[in-house]
Amino acid sequence: MRRLPRLLRGALSLTWSAARKEFAASAALQLAAAACMAAQILIVQRALSGVIGVAEGKEDISDVLPAILALAAVSTVLTFANIARTELQRLLGELVARRALDQVLDVSTGVELLAYDSPTFLDRLQRARTNAVSRPAQMATGLVGVLSALLTIAGVSAALFFLEPVFLVVVLLAYVPLWIATTRASKVIYRFNVVQTERDRRRDYLSYVLTRKEEAAEVRAFDLSGFFRRQYEKLWDERLAELRTVVARRMRVGLIGGMVTSALTAATLAVLVVFINGERMDLAQAGAAAAAVVLLGQRLQLLSGSAGSLYESSLFIEDFTSFVAAMPVLDAARPKDQAPDGFRKLRVDSVSFSYPTRDEAALDNVTLEVEQGQVVALVGENGSGKTTLAKLLAGLYQPSLGAITWDGIDVTKCDPLSVRRSVGVIFQDFAKYMLTAHDNIATGRHERFDLRDEVVRAARRSGADSFISRLPKGYDGRLGSPFLGGNDLSVGQWQRMALARAFFRDAPFLILDEPTAALDPRSEADLFENVRELYGGRTVLLISHRFSTVRSADMIFVLFAGRIVERGTHEQLMDIAGLYAELFTLQAAGFLDPQQ
Ligand code: ADP
Repeated sequence: MRRLPRLLRGALSLTWSAARKEFAASAALQLAAAACMAAQILIVQRALSGVIGVAEGKEDISDVLPAILALAAVSTVLTFANIARTELQRLLGELVARRALDQVLDVSTGVELLAYDSPTFLDRLQRARTNAVSRPAQMATGLVGVLSALLTIAGVSAALFFLEPVFLVVVLLAYVPLWIATTRASKVIYRFNVVQTERDRRRDYLSYVLTRKEEAAEVRAFDLSGFFRRQYEKLWDERLAELRTVVARRMRVGLIGGMVTSALTAATLAVLVVFINGERMDLAQAGAAAAAVVLLGQRLQLLSGSAGSLYESSLFIEDFTSFVAAMPVLDAARPKDQAPDGFRKLRVDSVSFSYPTRDEAALDNVTLEVEQGQVVALVGENGSGKTTLAKLLAGLYQPSLGAITWDGIDVTKCDPLSVRRSVGVIFQDFAKYMLTAHDNIATGRHERFDLRDEVVRAARRSGADSFISRLPKGYDGRLGSPFLGGNDLSVGQWQRMALARAFFRDAPFLILDEPTAALDPRSEADLFENVRELYGGRTVLLISHRFSTVRSADMIFVLFAGRIVERGTHEQLMDIAGLYAELFTLQAAGFLDPQQ
């Protein structure tokens, strides 16, 4: 009861923002229905007294006719209002679902990348996304139901009050047990849903692993289907066992509530008989009052049922409202200053960075400089901070300490969108869009989406053109197998697509994180045969485990545990015989014949 006003407010504001017209129509109809229902009772009284009058020969049939016609008219309106309520609920459900999903997407695309490193955010995002599909219909049903029930209860109560106030009090009292029972039952299901969230997510994940192409090969190779399936079934079993208990409890509570209510309704009717006997009411009044009592009962039942629906969807409403509320804060927090279009000198000045989930710094006091047109490389062992530094330079993360300047302007204080505009980047875990070959490359700069010549040029540079032109539909061929007619590619070919996308972006600063990891040696050699031409004079930051691609860089930075421990050209670094020389020699030794 205490939460109902807050829930109503949340549900109302979401519904109102999604479907103003439909909701207003729905409310107007229910208001009309409420008026009709009150009128119906008074007309019933008139019709009954007319019929009794006719039977006793005191009235003519024609006297009763207007009441009967009015009854027909009112009941037509009521039938229509009932149908409209159900249908509008359906429409409202979908409109609200769409609006809710839109708002989830606003948040999911509006937050900075770092949010995706937080399990709490991911949890809430997942909950908001799945609930936004299923819950709005329930919420709309609850909302319109509560609204309709409240209005009609007011109407019928007014009519009943006019007939005999005692009944009004008795009927309302009779429904107190049912109301309590419904609230109890809703609470039980609410608690069940809260407890199950975590388990449901684990189960969803397992079903995901068992149905996705990405895991299909490994699941078979390691014979994991049975193993995962058992875990999945166990989670279902646990959920169902608890659901059975919950359902049994709800049935018990409902039955007791219903029985008490029925007993009280019977008592009401008994009082009615006593009143007629004592001639406190005439037969027509009693008939109308009986109809009103039944109607009021139905409406009270509708109210408790709808409030139950609303209560059950409250988990969603509250969760959703607070999740979406994060959005305006983000917009306000984004700096307004614009970064320049590129730089002559980039400087990373004493930059440190920590991930929110880890105490240890991923980057620790890093300082470096890059001149326009230079090719610089980052090398270091796994986890030394290379990708993190690349993400900071691409404007995807902001440093915890220190500054990144472009010709003296601190771009960490600028709108990150304006920084990213001048950066082309591909990561190790690059995206594979299930779109056409053209679109896969053109997404590199969607503002130039239609420039086929440029797309082909980028594909030639990355070596993707050779296999794209062999596809049945060439650049218009769909990539990836999930859709009909899609052509799946090898990992190396996908990597060339990603490279082509980065080239198509045509940004002055190019960041390539392991761009050749999936390429065979010949492809890699071809690609890097003429590096300067490949990059077309752009500034390039290259991360690679392959020293062959790194050695020609103008400057190499060696990272170790988040710090730069060595810097220089290949020759300089070999001369100092430190970490770089050690790693280089290790890799080179793998290719050399120990006999030589
Ligand atoms: P590299 O690219 O050199 O392999 P990374 O920059 O990916 O290294 O990682 C640097 C450090 O930060 C590692 O210790 C890694 O475990 C940690 N790290 C990377 N990504 C995350 C993340 N999303 N959340 C928490 N820690 C992370």
